[in-house]
Amino acid sequence: MPDEHAWERVPVAFPNCVTAGPSGAVAHAVSRGATLCGIPVRRATTTPGCFAPDAASACPRCVQRAAATPGRPSPQELLHDKILAADAGPLRDALVEALKQGAPVHPWIRGASAGNVRSSVRLYGAMEGARQADEALRTEGPFGAAEVVTAARRFVVIMPRYTRPVIAARSVRPVAQTPFPAGLTPSPNASAGGTEHAVDGDATLCGIPAKQVTVVRHLFSAEHRSACFTCAERAAT
Ligand SMILES: [Zn+2]
Ligand SMILES: [Zn+2]
Repeated sequence: MPDEHAWERVPVAFPNCVTAGPSGAVAHAVSRGATLCGIPVRRATTTPGCFAPDAASACPRCVQRAAATPGRPSPQELLHDKILAADAGPLRDALVEALKQGAPVHPWIRGASAGNVRSSVRLYGAMEGARQADEALRTEGPFGAAEVVTAARRFVVIMPRYTRPVIAARSVRPVAQTPFPAGLTPSPNASAGGTEHAVDGDATLCGIPAKQVTVVRHLFSAEHRSACFTCAERAAT
């Protein structure tokens, strides 16, 4: 089914240059070594900033041609096209809706390592889809990652180079602290911190015997970056 949504286009920003006119400087828009009205850039003076069509000094022909230049697709449209390859479902539908309403896409990281993605877009156990997003980050990189925040939710899209994009989301409302003591297990990667589990009596919620974890003073929080995904899911129910 074709998508009928009319995406807003982003106007192209042209570099600026000026020439001397009979009544002062004239500002032109530059594209590929010449102004849009056809003056070679070497015969003009380049100036910082972008061509402003509404400036009094703007060259009328450049204004006309700049206005006739088709805009570029917006980040919302580009991300929408990417996530069509993600699993269909309520999460993708909600993100498509948010993008159509113009929710900001920020940041959008490209060609990053899994470590860089993890440190810039925060994935918590408390997020819906976080486990799948985490698994996607274990495939071969590099990765793209984008974040979309609406009034109600924060979405994270992980875009591995070779596999389909994965969407994770969480409600922006803070979740109640779950009253489980936290227990740590060492990470297989010695330089990283341990994984934090929720301890419930003689085992963690994910089934590790309590005697194999180091119980720490604070309570388990699914918000912590090191929170075990299984414990986070089970603590939330
Ligand atoms: Zn011009
Ligand atoms: Zn656990």
